Amino acid sequence: MREPEKVRLLTYLLSGSLVPANFAVALFHGDWPLTTDRVCAIGLFSVDALAVGLLLLVVHQRWIDPRPAGQPRRIVAIGAHPDDLELACGGTIAKLHDSGHEVHALVMSGGEVGGDASRRPGEAVSGGKLLGTTSVTVHDFPDTRLRDVELEMTQVIEAAIRRYNADIVLTHSGNDQHQDHHAVHLATLRAGRQHPAILCYESPSVTSDFSPQVFVDIGDYVDVKVSAVSAHRDQAGKPYMTGDRIRGIASFRGSQAKIAHAEGFEPVRLLCSSVGDL
Ligand SMILES: [Zn+2]
Repeated sequence: MREPEKVRLLTYLLSGSLVPANFAVALFHGDWPLTTDRVCAIGLFSVDALAVGLLLLVVHQRWIDPRPAGQPRRIVAIGAHPDDLELACGGTIAKLHDSGHEVHALVMSGGEVGGDASRRPGEAVSGGKLLGTTSVTVHDFPDTRLRDVELEMTQVIEAAIRRYNADIVLTHSGNDQHQDHHAVHLATLRAGRQHPAILCYESPSVTSDFSPQVFVDIGDYVDVKVSAVSAHRDQAGKPYMTGDRIRGIASFRGSQAKIAHAEGFEPVRLLCSSVGDL
């Protein structure tokens, strides 16, 4: 559970328990029958407790977990393999969720060549849950051979963009040397040929030509990104899965954006009114 969620839960518990607690103390502490003074005292206690609860909620909403005033967005994030989204844009997904937006994850293959096919789809769901994705759909297109099914992937992605009425589409970069990542990039571009906001994220296999122009501040979301990547236990041991590597990339992209930690994206198209505040 992330810090804002813990504080929110604590606030609700305190607010929800203060009124009945005060009411009970006022009601049962003292002699019966109730006098007019005690009835007034019970009322005052309850109003006081309610005021404290409301104050806690206002403090929480205003300073601890502010949500944007803008309209909620719907995001479709597409990855070739079960761990791609967590590695590339996990911080952005968690931030979008905490800001009140919907994120739908599409995973094109179960990753049966790169790992244990019986575990990896479940790990994609676990990772998505940690980030707060609204849904995770794992397709069973053939791992390492996604190029052979580009048309079918295009149809699946096109249907998802339409079904979720996506405001933003996140996908692999064209500057990526993994053949599956490149195939998903091309399929997304075809599926989203009429879409106004497509951003390409940074996988560990991007080439030196990857050049992000859009940055998302993930200063508060590096830890949850590391946790979500760790959910992919089947892939543990690969050098790019370590917390150090993830923090290092976030720090490097942060330095490019003149902030502490960031994720970088190459825009295919970027209509500002679709993207809103990232
Ligand atoms: Zn991948």
